[in-house]
Amino acid sequence: MTHYIDLSSCDYFGPADGRLLAVGWLELGRPLERGRVTGEFFEAFARLAANAWQPFVHAGRHACQWCVFSGGPAEVRVGDLTVAVGATNVFVPAEQAMYVAPSLLLHYMDAHEYAPPEVFQRAVIACPTMRSMDYLKALRAHGIDRLGRQSGQQ
Ligand SMILES: [Zn+2]
Repeated sequence: MTHYIDLSSCDYFGPADGRLLAVGWLELGRPLERGRVTGEFFEAFARLAANAWQPFVHAGRHACQWCVFSGGPAEVRVGDLTVAVGATNVFVPAEQAMYVAPSLLLHYMDAHEYAPPEVFQRAVIACPTMRSMDYLKALRAHGIDRLGRQSGQQ
């Protein structure tokens, strides 16, 4: 997986004017922010990841680099939800920017004690329901809905 330092500009999906910020694009050998996240945040992110809007269809699944032999799970269970991880990204709108985090973040937090930046955690908890009208409006406000068309299929 492509590596980005947390809260750095993410150009993976095409040009985004520096308003698309990466969270949780981790790589083995780079420092990992460790800590405990709240159940409220973990569940809120799981609900977004369960039905995540995508700019284009992604080919293949990313493995967890810390799970040396298994590559990590293909899904994470959170209460009544079973969330597929590794193949999708979650776009989270905030006031000034849009965050994008891999669904594998669920596994990183669950198994490897990764703690994403506070500002991202607040945005996730405040995020409108995935694919709701408010959510899609926020994507449009940040120009994110055009990303897939700008960069084409990969
Ligand atoms: Zn792992």
